[in-house]
Amino acid sequence: MFDGFLTLKKSCEACGLDYSFADPADGPAFFVICFACVPSVFLGVWLEVQFHAEIWVHALVTLPSLLATCILPLRPIKGWLVASQFYFKAAEGRLVRSGEANTPAKPIGPQGQ
Ligand SMILES: [Zn+2]
Repeated sequence: MFDGFLTLKKSCEACGLDYSFADPADGPAFFVICFACVPSVFLGVWLEVQFHAEIWVHALVTLPSLLATCILPLRPIKGWLVASQFYFKAAEGRLVRSGEANTPAKPIGPQGQ
């Protein structure tokens, strides 16, 4: 489904599904920030406050933790969001422009003709 790290292919290789509907936008980044990045930052803050950790400790513990928890989940979360968009048929809202919806209402009854 991916052409590169986060770029989607035009269509599915197996079934030919067109991925033009897929637009998770900032969704993957939002979930990564909420559930991975914030706990990782708390780890760094905790190390600093509790142990007054040296900068090399942060370079060896906090930085790899931040990179791993922020970069690695992006791809599976994006795949999950695209699959959810497909499953729930989520798309941008569109106005209905059928012929009957825009015609003015006619009076009903014998005088209506
Ligand atoms: Zn497919």
